Amino acid sequence: MKNKDDKFKKVISHAKEYGYIFQSSEIYEGLSAVYDYGQNGAELKKNIRDYWWKAMVQMHENIVGIDAAIFMHPTTWKASGHVDAFNDPLIDNKDSKKRYRADVLIEDFAEKLNLKAKKEITKAAKRFGDAFNEEEFITTNPRVIRYLSKRDEVLKRMGESLENEDLSDVKALIEELEIACPVSGSKNWTDVKQFNLMFGTKLGATAESAMDLFLRPETAQGIFVNFANVQKTGRMKIPFGIAQTGKAFRNEIVARQFIFRMREFEQMEMQFFVRPGDELKWYEYWKEKRLNWHLSLGINKENYRFHDHEKMAHYANAAADIEFNFPFGFKELEGIHSRTDFDLKAHEEYSGKKLQFFDHELNKSYVPYVIETSIGLDRMFLAIFSSALQNETLEDGSERVVLKLPAVLAPTKATVLPLVKKDGLPEIAREIINDLKYDFNVSYDEKDAIGRRYRRQDAVGTPFCITVDHQTKEDDTVTIRYRDTMAQERIAIKDLRNIIYKEVSVGDWLKKINN
Ligand code: ATP
Repeated sequence: MKNKDDKFKKVISHAKEYGYIFQSSEIYEGLSAVYDYGQNGAELKKNIRDYWWKAMVQMHENIVGIDAAIFMHPTTWKASGHVDAFNDPLIDNKDSKKRYRADVLIEDFAEKLNLKAKKEITKAAKRFGDAFNEEEFITTNPRVIRYLSKRDEVLKRMGESLENEDLSDVKALIEELEIACPVSGSKNWTDVKQFNLMFGTKLGATAESAMDLFLRPETAQGIFVNFANVQKTGRMKIPFGIAQTGKAFRNEIVARQFIFRMREFEQMEMQFFVRPGDELKWYEYWKEKRLNWHLSLGINKENYRFHDHEKMAHYANAAADIEFNFPFGFKELEGIHSRTDFDLKAHEEYSGKKLQFFDHELNKSYVPYVIETSIGLDRMFLAIFSSALQNETLEDGSERVVLKLPAVLAPTKATVLPLVKKDGLPEIAREIINDLKYDFNVSYDEKDAIGRRYRRQDAVGTPFCITVDHQTKEDDTVTIRYRDTMAQERIAIKDLRNIIYKEVSVGDWLKKINN
């Protein structure tokens, strides 16, 4: 646990020190669970957003993107179910006065059982060596069976109680499992209550005429209310998708995990409209596609896992999360939901407008079913950033801190360094920058010894350092140093663009999704 905490603290301080993420309004002591992206953070975030947008919109003939407003007619949220059902079950500890999400307390308990089972499996694997049969061990070892069946039983009961709105049973479950407050250690809990997560605001100047609005808690509804507009003007045929990225707002109860759970955050969502009855086929398709998108970025696949939902949202008939191994353990990064025809039907009912598709092949109209892929941009940022941050011990025993961001996402692709601040070397460096800046984000650094400058770029995540030295003046060559391997090569200035392009071209990275 200590190690995990340390790693997480390092991620947070590194993000601040290198201009990636700052606490919002820091000079006024900050605002809880709200963050600002600094000069490098804004670039990384934009690159992740672009990578998603290209994979979704540019790569699919039948997916288009929109940009709907944050403010929406208030009836939207009545129809979507958010006014009545966008609640979290909360519980307070009477001694520490801390507030928790009751479902999260129970899920954490279940995860502990999972870890216990895993420990047994790892121990046995070591003991039996090559002869170890994991599947057989899981189904026959009494301890593992006990842990895993308890885990399943706990999650099932929680799922059912939440589904039935039986909050007193959720509390009873917390008490039966003897879950204690992590702060006070006490089991002195209040009842479980529902808490609506939407932020309210007002539109209009005078108190009498003002209209109560909500800041959107998800971007999806902006897509649903535009279904007919896009379908007609784009002459879209089922199956087709509408994608959107943008801000969403939730008054989260427990918001203590840096940019993992924020009150203002950004989502990247795609709603894919299909024929009724085809939805589970497309659900499987998008689960695979989305996982491949993550894997294309080259992060070890052990860091991802699917988690099928026990407790389904009010609109879904199948739902899974892609979970990522964050510094504090596996948690939801992206959701893939089969939302049925719930949203479009509800908007038809509340608006009185038809939201249907005439299917020429079937010769009939219907309300399409929907598969949604929904990922938090900030969570994706945290996944990428935290897995990229590494501490290496080098051959000479020294340490280096390196941010091994996928080159396609790195804020700055290359930095150009004159070996010394004289003899015309800075001028040549500037010329190289002037040539490369039309294609890539490049920077210049002339301060400190070259070794220190390399380390600075390693820490900020720049994939290439290009050093101009005295030989450059003679033969138009420079040294290129690769961040991840620290290898150095002498190359001609005229080859720089191609070498960089090969490593950072979005197209080449995206091609991996279909491999
Ligand atoms: P959680 O269970 O963690 O609260 P959720 O199931 O409510 O998440 P969804 O409503 O499915 O999340 O939202 C889709 C995605 O939006 C999530 O997978 C996550 O990446 C992101 N997201 C949701 N809430 C937040 C938040 N408060 N801060 C940052 N990202 C968020």
